Amino acid sequence: MNDFREGLLSINLQSIAGNYLDLNKRLRSGAKCGAVVKADAYGLGMSQVVPALFRQGCRDFFVATQAEGERLRKELGDSVQIVILTGVRAGAELECAKAGLMPTLFTLEQLRHWVDICAQAEIEGPCAVKIDSGMTRLGMGPEEFDLLLRDRQLLASADIRILLSHLACADEPQHPQNDIQLRSFKEAGEKLRVLCPEVQLSLANSSGIFLGEDYHFDIARPGSALYGVNPIPGTPNPMRPTVTLSLPIVQKRLVSRKQSVGYGATQQVTAGSWLAVARGGYADGIIRAQGGRGCGWACGRQLPIIGRISMDSTTFDISALSHEERDSLQSIEILNSNLTVDAVAEHAGTIGYEVLTSLGHRYFRRYIKS
Ligand SMILES: *Cc1c(COP(=O)(O)O)cnc(C)c1O
Repeated sequence: MNDFREGLLSINLQSIAGNYLDLNKRLRSGAKCGAVVKADAYGLGMSQVVPALFRQGCRDFFVATQAEGERLRKELGDSVQIVILTGVRAGAELECAKAGLMPTLFTLEQLRHWVDICAQAEIEGPCAVKIDSGMTRLGMGPEEFDLLLRDRQLLASADIRILLSHLACADEPQHPQNDIQLRSFKEAGEKLRVLCPEVQLSLANSSGIFLGEDYHFDIARPGSALYGVNPIPGTPNPMRPTVTLSLPIVQKRLVSRKQSVGYGATQQVTAGSWLAVARGGYADGIIRAQGGRGCGWACGRQLPIIGRISMDSTTFDISALSHEERDSLQSIEILNSNLTVDAVAEHAGTIGYEVLTSLGHRYFRRYIKS
């Protein structure tokens, strides 16, 4: 028997695969579509998601940490390229190279160190180099990158497979920052290609794919859009929703007089209101900021969240349901194709990425394959 008592999280692998194919189709011909599966595939389960993407032809995977990369290597064997986006921990270089993981390196010093360690151990050390094209987060700045271009000896001994950079405003197509970063990255890529003709260029995340072919280069790195987050906020979502989260109701109650609900007595309901308390709270990733603002979904209707969200439970006002609907009601959905990760994020004052990566581990997870 499946145990749904703590909530049921359904993850549709077919929809994720469909989103991958859709993104792949949007790329300029010749560009490859990779997949970012960091943070356990944005909370949806790397072990399940990755094989689904692999079956659609994905061979370029991006993770955040070495531990994620090692896990992925064990599961997928040698047939895929795995890039660690946050580099390699000092002292862990050899382990990283032996596992066949490609670290993203941000400084000349890191690159030299990596090359030396791999040479000493006589093992291959393919790597990615990241430049900062204007986001001012990780990556070599223009001066340091120029030093790299001038260090022919280092370039000859380093096995740089990918040059990458990250866009700061890809989800705002009109933002001038996009064009500035595009030009800066393109120029850097052209210069490096003269010296390392095999290097592949990678700039676009999910939203970057929608900025047009100029942004696609050789490898795209979508994450969120694979999992259903809208890559073009403010316009209809072209991606398929991938998750449904259903919370079991543990108590239904009729409120006999005007009364406040939950911690802090922040919100009141009128006499005659019907409430449903569902199992699932902020410890399960139901973002607390939704309290008094968000909603659930049942019987084709939105049902408001009343009062603050507790650690293990959330209270909904189900007064809008008919007598029969109320009697038969056993669960309330708080994520589905009507109540999307983007809609929930809006209620919680955050982004779909945080809604997904917060999903808790107490739910029963069901993976839909076909
Ligand atoms: C997380 C991440 C991505 C994926 O971004 P999405 O917006 O989720 O598509 C791509 N590149 C880098 C460097 C990242 O850290």
